Amino acid sequence: MTFPSSIKIEGVSIPTANFIGGEWQEASSTFVDYSPIDSHLLAEMPASGPVEVNAAVEAARSAFPEWARLTPQQRAKPLLKMAEIIRERNDSLAAVETEDTGTILLGNKKRVIKRAAYNLEFFANKALEIQGRSIESETVINTVRYDPSGVAALITPWNAPFMLSTWKVGPALAAGNTVVLKPPEWAPLSCSLLAEMSLEAGIPPGVLNVVHGIGEEAGAALVSNPLVSRVSFTGSTETGRQIASTAAANLVPVSCELGGKSPFIVFDDADLELASKEIAVQFHNAGEVCLAGTRLLVQSSIAKELEERVVKAVEALPVGNPRLLSTRVGPLITKEHFERVDGFVKRAIQEGARAMIGGGPHQQGGLYYSPTILTDVAQDSEIVQNEVFGPVLTWQLFSEEEEAVELANGTRYGLAAMVFTTDAARARRVAEQLVAGTVWVNCFFIRDLAAPFGGSRISGIGREGGTWSFDFYCDVKNIATRIGTLK
Ligand code: NAD
Repeated sequence: MTFPSSIKIEGVSIPTANFIGGEWQEASSTFVDYSPIDSHLLAEMPASGPVEVNAAVEAARSAFPEWARLTPQQRAKPLLKMAEIIRERNDSLAAVETEDTGTILLGNKKRVIKRAAYNLEFFANKALEIQGRSIESETVINTVRYDPSGVAALITPWNAPFMLSTWKVGPALAAGNTVVLKPPEWAPLSCSLLAEMSLEAGIPPGVLNVVHGIGEEAGAALVSNPLVSRVSFTGSTETGRQIASTAAANLVPVSCELGGKSPFIVFDDADLELASKEIAVQFHNAGEVCLAGTRLLVQSSIAKELEERVVKAVEALPVGNPRLLSTRVGPLITKEHFERVDGFVKRAIQEGARAMIGGGPHQQGGLYYSPTILTDVAQDSEIVQNEVFGPVLTWQLFSEEEEAVELANGTRYGLAAMVFTTDAARARRVAEQLVAGTVWVNCFFIRDLAAPFGGSRISGIGREGGTWSFDFYCDVKNIATRIGTLK
């Protein structure tokens, strides 16, 4: 098997090697990366194991003292440069991400890559604010410092690998840590470009390392490495459990952003036009969005009218090739995932669910699945209780506000919740009772980087965003000095 050191997509050369200590390095074996658009082979990537992972952690450890010693202003410079380079290459990065993940080109061009640049810029600037604070008492002056913690291990999923990697790389590096990033094996390419751009931007060798590989091998080796001081993971709840348990053995703090099964509640006083438009948005990226409101909870009195509007809005969604700017719903990521999604739908229908719309693979074949809404589903059924991570929503009715809250809180997840109402008192009352890291009222997916983000229950551990990211990536230290003892 030949091992190409780079491949070309849309004219962009993408290194297909690990990036360790500022150098491209191959591994002794490879894995194969396919495009979900039409299953064509994209690249052979390094299937790293403990040897490569440990080398990357060593490189990060060696680079740490010098990077940590820099001021936040000095660290901000190359991070801001990296953001600038990302902005300059917006369209080619968007094309690569679409090719590798199957996510729609329109979203990648208009929002996702821009957001990745902003992640780096925002945290580079935010780090300027975390400098020293002093708390005085009668006998001592407490000087509180946010010290970098060391080597941060960052592990990201395939549904938005570039954006989610910068969401972690930005604050970790801005705070003075060095990083080993393990990209997702189903969509690894854009993270190789991130490594390349870090070199161009002047990030010193060893400060950002990227090690490709299969989760259970490369990811597991990274989390268990004793030189790692933080683990930030975004992915499934099941993997989060394993990672948290491995990190616990080394007593390493873990931040987990995990799966969701978020409720989308529509009250009878809601703006139904707005609600149905936002319901259709839940199908974008084929529903492979952790935050998606996958459980529609609808007040009975408006069910008929909302159903008509929703069916119309969902039927109007163009399903197909994500490279076309008109497409809204692209393919699922792999055949394995496609079958998993279809399995959920088939079992639900066998149990008595009715497809209000969709209900199976899309007519154009491949990995394309029809946007599906299943009704007549029981609260304790598999389809209501478990994350599908595909274009599949459930539809349940409620009569009273209390019942809506009970249904909304009635799963083990707690990532997000959406409430559609025009009644201010109700909006506040319901939002306060919902168990979720984020509650959106009359909107969806608006994430201010200054606000905290994370999940409750099995949707996550900890919060990142704004200063919360620095609470995680830093060791908070107090230097208590007796007053009057220093000259
Ligand atoms: P996954 O858990 O299968 O994989 C995520 C990453 O973890 C990949 O890089 C994978 O290689 C790695 N990994 C797998 N096993 C590992 C192990 N034992 N040790 C260390 N690393 C390991 O998740 P996925 O299928 O890539 O992504 C989809 C999931 O991610 C969904 O559940 C979705 O809800 C969730 N997600 C959550 C958020 C959020 O912010 N809460 C955002 C995006 C996706």
